[in-house]
Amino acid sequence: MSFQAVRPKILGFISEDASAWLVALLVLLMGGVLTGLLAWSTVNVFHHQLKQRFQLLASERYSRIEERFQDQEQRLDGLRRFFANSDSVSREEFDGYTKPLLHRTQAYSFAARVTRAERAQFEQKVRDEGFSNFTLRELDGNSQLQLAAERDEYVAVLYSQTQSRLGSPLGYDLLAQPMRRATLERADKLGSMAVSQPMHLVSIEPAFARGVLLVAPVFSRNPPSAAGVKPFGYVMAVISMRQLLADGLPDANYDYLSVRILDLSIDDQHEVLYESINPPAASDLSASRLLRLADHDYQVDITPSEAFIQANHSSVTTLMVLGGLLSLLLSALVYVLVSQRQRALKMVEQRTEELRAREQELSGTHGQLRGVLNAATQVAIIATDLRGVISTFNAGAEQMLGYASVEVVGHMTLENLHLPRELVARAAELSARYGKPIPTCHAMLVEGGEEGASEAREWTLVRCDGSHLAVNMLATPVLDEQGLWVGHLAICIDITERKRVHEALAARDLLLKKLSAHVPGGIYQFKMEFDGRFSVIYASDGIREIYELEPDVLLLNAEAIFTRIHPQDTTRVRASIRASADTLSPWREEYRVQLPMRGLRWVRGEATPEELPGGGVLWHGYISDISDLKRVEEELRALSITDSLTGIHNRRYFQERLTTEMARVQRGVGELSVIMLDIDHFKRINDQHGHAVGDRVLQAVCERIGHRLRRTDVFCRLGGEEFMVLCPDTDREQAHVLAMQLWQGLRSSPIDSVGFVTASFGIASWRVGEGADALLLRADSGVYAAKQAGRDRVEAQKT
Ligand code: GH3
Ligand code: MG
Ligand code: MG
Repeated sequence: MSFQAVRPKILGFISEDASAWLVALLVLLMGGVLTGLLAWSTVNVFHHQLKQRFQLLASERYSRIEERFQDQEQRLDGLRRFFANSDSVSREEFDGYTKPLLHRTQAYSFAARVTRAERAQFEQKVRDEGFSNFTLRELDGNSQLQLAAERDEYVAVLYSQTQSRLGSPLGYDLLAQPMRRATLERADKLGSMAVSQPMHLVSIEPAFARGVLLVAPVFSRNPPSAAGVKPFGYVMAVISMRQLLADGLPDANYDYLSVRILDLSIDDQHEVLYESINPPAASDLSASRLLRLADHDYQVDITPSEAFIQANHSSVTTLMVLGGLLSLLLSALVYVLVSQRQRALKMVEQRTEELRAREQELSGTHGQLRGVLNAATQVAIIATDLRGVISTFNAGAEQMLGYASVEVVGHMTLENLHLPRELVARAAELSARYGKPIPTCHAMLVEGGEEGASEAREWTLVRCDGSHLAVNMLATPVLDEQGLWVGHLAICIDITERKRVHEALAARDLLLKKLSAHVPGGIYQFKMEFDGRFSVIYASDGIREIYELEPDVLLLNAEAIFTRIHPQDTTRVRASIRASADTLSPWREEYRVQLPMRGLRWVRGEATPEELPGGGVLWHGYISDISDLKRVEEELRALSITDSLTGIHNRRYFQERLTTEMARVQRGVGELSVIMLDIDHFKRINDQHGHAVGDRVLQAVCERIGHRLRRTDVFCRLGGEEFMVLCPDTDREQAHVLAMQLWQGLRSSPIDSVGFVTASFGIASWRVGEGADALLLRADSGVYAAKQAGRDRVEAQKT
């Protein structure tokens, strides 16, 4: 089944191939659109509600204003009726009636109509009531009350009840002022209440001075009013619009409405009669209505105030913010979901691929393993489960043990293949070591500890036909992936042949040992690696005698040999070994060894080199002690260069030394002189005293001469009674001095039974380019010249 086919979509609809960013963006976009729609509908609802609220508030405010207008009218009408239905109203009665009415009204007044004729009487009457200054008054140019001018008619304020602390404008003639007069006339004309145009009210505190005058004509009951009959007076309510409207309303800052009242009485010039302190807010909401007070219509405009706008704050911003945040959150969530899911799916896919590859690899490996198991015909590979029952028995095992795999697998255990007595012995040994019983079935599996982990061990297996087979078996535990023990694996190698070879080699070793024991000196194998390192491959016991070193030590450290070799010989020995390695020529060297026990010894080594494939060289050799031989050799040598009669060096030695010294001076190093002497008339001594005395004389002469020589001088008898002194590093003067000393020494001391013996001396100092023969000839000539000159002298050299 295809993996692709069962893959569900993310959240049921998002293709998993879609970019997580794109999906998140889409979600964000959708969230934004939804938030927008929601905000739009919220704004609509909000505006609708706002309008409703405003209208409700506005109509309530209209009702209130209208109510107050009516209230004003009713109260003034009450006052009018109070006057109309009384014959006369005293000031006390007026005060008593109007006092409780002074509520949202600045003042109530009663103005009486007074004719020019009645004026004086009227004024007097009032003065009599106690208002001594009372006169009819009118406003002058400075809005100050002054004595009213003479007119036909006055309507003067007679009673007045006011809230104002400025007092009542008693005596004020309303007819004196055109606007008030017009109002009174309108009231007359209508026969009912009239309201003035907005005007500046007299005797009212400035804050409330702008207002209207509500006037009602008071007609006398008797005679009943008829056309043309003028009212005897007027009752008036002085109304400050501000007081009327603002009284009882909340503080301006908290008032939701801003009210404006326009007076429409003058066309084109609508005076603002009242305007709320709080300014209208910028809003398209507004209401406008005409309200009637007496005979006047006022336009009342209501708009929402800032307080209203604030109180009815739209929640759309919050909604937008929340909606935006929610969209963002949702898109982030979707992004995480989609990307996580994509990652998870990718991982699953990857793991599946890996597993598939592993599976293929495993099956390949399994096949290879099977192949290897069956191909390994020289090795028996046997696997068991935990109980020891055999589960794998390869072709090599079949071949070695003679069992068919099917006979063994699942039927036999590893123990069945072993020799029982070996197992029993091993089990007993292990039990003793570990201090707990080890069953025989585990004896071949338990590590002995003494060999270290995973060491192969020799066992004897029993073949199908009962014969024995020596094997080397490596038993290891088999662990599963969790490291749990699931069985054992035994790998066996047939070691019959190896054992045979091993035994044959051991026999050869023994033979070699026995043979070498009978050979003086030591035999050895010495190896030089390609990099120049030395090692000893084999050293017989005889080597111990040669170097006073154990053969085992040499096997580990070949350089130990060089610690024994005499320091003066070490370089030579190393050089000759190297030369032998370079030319592959036989090595032969005699050298001294300095031994801790036996001291200085001479040894001789001989070895044949053999080039090794890796670039090294292997020597097979023999070293023997030649100290005795050396001693005899040295004795012989001494004899060969010594004169037997006198004990000094002989002619042979003189010739050797002369050759050496000549070579030296010819190299330009130092000087060389020879002094030759010949005993004078020796023949006579022989003749007179006999040959034996002659021999003693020769000995005595040698003794005398020898005593006077320097350590470096070489004294030789050339033959008969002729002698030669070889003087290295001696020039002609020094040689002459020496010759004179010798001559003197000889001739000045007599020899027993013979007396004074003299000799003739010849000297020769080496000249550049001169050969040995020429040098000797000159010395000989010197002797001859001395003889000729009468003997017993030293013949000086010719220059
Ligand atoms: P001159 O002064 O000219 O050298 O005379 P001379 O006698 O010393 O010289 P001459 O060469 O004639 O004689 C040397 C003699 O020395 C001859 C020989 O018998 C003797 N002679 C040589 N060898 C020995 C020796 O070993 N022992 C003794 N006793 N005599 C020897
Ligand atoms: Mg002579
Ligand atoms: Mg002589």
